[in-house]
Amino acid sequence: MSDPLAPGAVIGILGGGQLGRMLSVAASRLGYRTHIYEPGAAPAGDVAHAVTNASYEDAEALRRFAEAVDVITYEFENVPADSLDLLESIRPIRPNRRALAVSQDRLTEKEFLRDLGLRTAPFADAASEKDLPAALKRIGVPSILKTRRMGYDGKGQIRFADVGQRDWTGAEAVLEGFVDFSAEISVIVARGIDGSVAAYDPGRNLHEGGILRTTTVPSGIPQAMVTDAVLLAARIAAALDYVGVMGVELFVTAEGLVVNEIAPRVHNSGHWTQAGCTVDQFEQHIRAIAGLPLGDGKRYADVVMENLIGQDMDRLPELLASPDVQIHLYGKSETREGRKMGHINRVLR
Ligand code: ATP
Ligand code: MG
Repeated sequence: MSDPLAPGAVIGILGGGQLGRMLSVAASRLGYRTHIYEPGAAPAGDVAHAVTNASYEDAEALRRFAEAVDVITYEFENVPADSLDLLESIRPIRPNRRALAVSQDRLTEKEFLRDLGLRTAPFADAASEKDLPAALKRIGVPSILKTRRMGYDGKGQIRFADVGQRDWTGAEAVLEGFVDFSAEISVIVARGIDGSVAAYDPGRNLHEGGILRTTTVPSGIPQAMVTDAVLLAARIAAALDYVGVMGVELFVTAEGLVVNEIAPRVHNSGHWTQAGCTVDQFEQHIRAIAGLPLGDGKRYADVVMENLIGQDMDRLPELLASPDVQIHLYGKSETREGRKMGHINRVLR
C-alpha cells in the first residue's frame, strides 16, 4: 500500500469534459492540484492547475504530462492502449488497466460479468456483417446491436425487430437480447487502495432518446434488491482490484437484477450525491485514488437529478429562481442539441 498523496500533489486527469471538471473541483477542495489532458475543448481546464491540449497519440506530450503529475486517473475510457502503456511506465493509473480493458469493450465486459456469475442480457459476438444472421438466429428479436467500442448515449446502436433485418453498425459489434425490465437503476460504488468499499443508494434512471434524462433517489425498488445491487457492485470492484469510483448500470427484471454495463469512473447517474451526501462521488473518487480513507455513502435527502441538455438551458432563469434546486453548469461555450450542458439536483427533503 502506498502513502496518501501529500497536500499540493498533482492529479493528472485524462479527459477534460464535465466529469473532469467536477473531479478537479473536488480535488482542489482536498488541497490537491489537477492537470487535465484533453485533445479538444476542455471545460475542465477552467478549474485546473494545468492543461495539456494534445492528441492521445502524442507520445512526447503524454510523457511530459505523466512526469508533471503524481497519479493519473481518467474520465475518458478510450485512450489507446499504447498511450496507457507509456503513461503507466511513468506514474500509476487508477483505476487500473484491467478495469479499463474490461469496460472499453462490450464483449469483454459481458464475458467478464458472466464469468463472475452475474446475469447479463443474452449476447452473441457479431465481429463482422457476415456474422449477423447467425447472431440473430441465436439471440432472436427484439434485440440490439451495439458496437463493441466507443459507444455512449446510445450511439452506435441499432434495434432489431425482425430476424430478416440486415442493418449493420459498421464496426465490430455484439448483439444483445432485449431485456424486459421494469426499471433501470445504477449503483455508484467506491473502492479504496486498502480494499475498503463504500456504495451509494441506487438511483432510478430514465433515458430519453438514448440519453440519461433523470436519476431519482430513492429508487423505489425493494430493500432486498438494493442490497443485491450493492453487493454485486462490490463484487465487480473487488474482482477488478479496483481503486476509485465505478458506476454499474442495472436492469430490474422479474427474475432479479441484470447488469447492463459498468463505467470505470464517476458516472452521470451519481451526480445526485452532490446534494444528497456529505461526500459526493467526485470527492470519493479523489479520496480513493489519493489513498485517503473513503467517505461515508449515506444519503441525507431525496433527490432528483436532471440533465440540462441542449435547449434546456433556456429554463435557466426559472431554475435559478427555484429554492430547492442546486445548479451545475459545465461552461460549454456552444449549446447544441443532445449536448449535456449542465445538470440540476432538486432536493426533495
Ligand atoms: P450510456 O452512455 O447512456 O451509458 P450507452 O451508449 O453505453 O449509453 P447502453 O447503456 O448500453 O448504451 O444502452 C442505452 C440504453 O438503451 C439503456 O440505458 C437502456 O435503456 C437501453 N438498452 C440497452 N441495452 C438494452 C437491452 N439489452 N435491453 C433493453 N434495453 C436496453
Ligand atoms: Mg449505459
